[in-house]
Amino acid sequence: MSDRDERYYAAQLNMQTCSRRGLFRGLWSGVSKPVKTQAGLAAKRTVPRPPTAVDEGLLTRLCDGCGKCEEACPQRIISMIESQPTLSLDGGACTECGECQRACPTLALANTSPDKLPFTGAIATLSGMCIRQMSAPCQSCTEACPHQAIDTVNRSIAINTDKCSGCAQCRVACPAHAIQMVMQ
Ligand code: SF4
Ligand code: SF4
Repeated sequence: MSDRDERYYAAQLNMQTCSRRGLFRGLWSGVSKPVKTQAGLAAKRTVPRPPTAVDEGLLTRLCDGCGKCEEACPQRIISMIESQPTLSLDGGACTECGECQRACPTLALANTSPDKLPFTGAIATLSGMCIRQMSAPCQSCTEACPHQAIDTVNRSIAINTDKCSGCAQCRVACPAHAIQMVMQ
């Protein structure tokens, strides 16, 4: 087993131990607080990350802050903030090229389960005026979305948040600047 695999599994095990501790703490602290599941214990992502980043708790353990993903990103949207990779989706979009994951020497960006959509932690929302409201035949966002998460509906659009990976390609494509990325 390679050194990086050992680090990954050690971190996973550590997470599971923490989860079990959390479960018992929950049981002993009465019913006023809901008992959290292992998934529920995952720290909430507060900033967008590269789309294959592992859960926040695990990321803290696995990422050593080397910045190789930042150097590898062809879109130049990764910045190391507090020694962890953060995406700037206001300045561009993630093409989900996978270069950051390939450049990462640890398994911090190795969340590639086949049944899990890549996810930056942000989702697209319609926040301005879609020009379809003025009968323009625009479908730029629909065409730009790599996950078919946007449908055109009458004089607007509908974003399916379950399919959205938070890549921001629709935001960049929208000629009316009507789409914003917000943290889920
Ligand atoms: S997947 Fe590609 S475009 Fe997206 S953050 Fe990683 S390197 Fe950049
Ligand atoms: S809806 Fe926008 S942000 Fe979401 S996956 Fe499609 S293009 Fe990317």
